[in-house]
Amino acid sequence: MSVPALEALEKRVLEAKTLETIRWALETYPDLLMTSGFNLNGTVLVDLAVRAGFRGELVFIDTLSHFPETLRTRDDVAVRYPEITLTTLTPEGDTLPACGSADCCTVRKVLPLRTFLEARQPSALLSARSRFQSETRAILNTVEDAGDYVKVNPLVEWSQADLEDYAKRRELPVNPLYWQGFLSIGCAPTTRAVRGGEDVRAGRWEGQEKTECGLWWGDKAI
Ligand code: SF4
Repeated sequence: MSVPALEALEKRVLEAKTLETIRWALETYPDLLMTSGFNLNGTVLVDLAVRAGFRGELVFIDTLSHFPETLRTRDDVAVRYPEITLTTLTPEGDTLPACGSADCCTVRKVLPLRTFLEARQPSALLSARSRFQSETRAILNTVEDAGDYVKVNPLVEWSQADLEDYAKRRELPVNPLYWQGFLSIGCAPTTRAVRGGEDVRAGRWEGQEKTECGLWWGDKAI
């Protein structure tokens, strides 16, 4: 068998294992919720989750400073997957912190999601993070204890090439900014395209020590 044929088989095995993980999560946690920022990972996970039988709620946090392309991707995903319910959260208050300021992510992202989760109290969340994305994510496990709920990360083993190959093969509605070098897409004021040799999240919060918005890292931030 040729090397490309073997590589294609490896990808199919990875896909099958991932579908099985999501099916396990759906059986174990029937009230499972998904969150997505409509990066490449997120769109791939939505497609896999729907294939695995997910018919629940997909939560998007609109910080009111996203790229227009991200909002259009969210809308494209909603059209492509009518099986799922898309919920958009927005920050509270008339005056929001300046983009990139110390408490910006807390007010625009963390608090809206925390409020939502406290009301909904899901037993588990499905997350699209992968180990290759950054040093801080290199130690991710498939299942994490987040205190009040469990986080299931079915894409931990996926590489960037695996994600791109799957997205192309399935003709997924990927955020067009991704193909322009925005390998991790957050809010417009604090995201830039990645340069050659940088890790995929290097374009987030340039010039700041921060590498995660607080939704998924730290002392059970969410
Ligand atoms: S990613 Fe940037 S602009 Fe968006 S909420 Fe966080 S600090 Fe604010």
